Amino acid sequence: MARAPDAAPRVGFVSLGCPKALVDSEQILTRLRAEGYATSKTYRDADLVIVNTCGFIDDAVAESLDAIGEALEENGRVIVTGCLGAKNGVVRKIHPSVLAVTGPHDLDGVMRAVHAALPKPHDPYTDLVPPQGIRLTPKHFAYLKISEGCNHRCTFCIIPSMRGDLVSRPVGEVMQEAENLVKAGVKELLVISQDTSAYGVDVKYRTGFWNGRPLKTRMTELVRALGEFGVWVRLHYVYPYPHVDDVIPLMAEGRVLPYLDVPFQHASARILKLMKRPASAEDNLARIRAWRAACPEITIRSTFIAGFPGETEAEFEELLEFLEEAQLDRVGCFAYSPVEGAKANALPDPVPEELRQERRARFMQVQAGISARRLQAKVGRRLQVLVDANGKGGAVARSSADAPEIDGVVRVRDGQRLKPGDFAQVVVEAADEHDLFARLAA
Ligand code: SF4
Repeated sequence: MARAPDAAPRVGFVSLGCPKALVDSEQILTRLRAEGYATSKTYRDADLVIVNTCGFIDDAVAESLDAIGEALEENGRVIVTGCLGAKNGVVRKIHPSVLAVTGPHDLDGVMRAVHAALPKPHDPYTDLVPPQGIRLTPKHFAYLKISEGCNHRCTFCIIPSMRGDLVSRPVGEVMQEAENLVKAGVKELLVISQDTSAYGVDVKYRTGFWNGRPLKTRMTELVRALGEFGVWVRLHYVYPYPHVDDVIPLMAEGRVLPYLDVPFQHASARILKLMKRPASAEDNLARIRAWRAACPEITIRSTFIAGFPGETEAEFEELLEFLEEAQLDRVGCFAYSPVEGAKANALPDPVPEELRQERRARFMQVQAGISARRLQAKVGRRLQVLVDANGKGGAVARSSADAPEIDGVVRVRDGQRLKPGDFAQVVVEAADEHDLFARLAA
């Protein structure tokens, strides 16, 4: 008989091995029950099967491999845990179709694999928190944090000393969160981290699982998978590593927004070296040209620091020349600020505060002209926008070129009927140096 669609998902369990493994099994079963999963005594009634293995002696290995084979044959969806899982590649070599393999005493690893393959049941009567969690952003967009910490040691920054080295979130967990958000009505996912392009470096791009299918813990694969939800996906804090080039075709194909937020910070090779930033200014210019050739629609946003310790007038002018050459769409500039604990504070020849502010103002003046010309070039074009707010004066919306809070907006004069979270087609009528002014397209 078919189960009711809202019945709790069922997990089958095979527990092998010593008492330590038995305790691991008990903990997994306890957590499953606490989260609302049901257990199944038969393979047929289970939505997936967990096999807790033993890998101590050859006989135990053979018994565990047989048990996995049987579960695969009878059910097909199998997660392996326990000592045999810790033996490099043994399980996958014999049974490549298992959903996930974790080692002994890895309750969190098993639960992540279960969540990825069989989403956690949500009971509105007992769960105080909605599946998408508590969000501080409006209902139609949400930040999706994919990692914490950073492996770089930029001399002006103390984030690594506070948050440590890069730790990537498991890809299945990130995808589950994204799906929960989309189901809750989110129309735009803003991917954030300290260094988005480094996603997965710490776990050697390990293969995780999402809905039973393998997915690498790597930016390109994650972005492609997020693109399948059919909502806007916007990438922030992308370092200009070579593999960023692989994401540009996904933008050209419309799978993710053609928008890159790349913090270049400076253009002088000497200053970039003092900052301990990778990639030279010439490399960056060549990359920008290549990105635009592959995806002419792309919006490039960046941030810079003016008045870094030791910056000469000539080096600052080099930065202005870079700006003219790069013709970036959106730019933020900070006057260098000596954060307590940052190595850059000890560098010789600090730039006086007044001069730092003056250089920042000159920088922003040059960029204002560039931004205004680039926005002016959009007049007459038809754009898709996402509405943030509405009122008597029309709607305030954003196009693919505008991230919330930091970029400009598109003001739609006849958009009174549009609601926050609506997509609309507009025609651009005018522009200033930040915003576009538009009407609804016919
Ligand atoms: S500036 Fe960014 S990349 Fe550099 S150390 Fe800080 S967090 Fe890492």
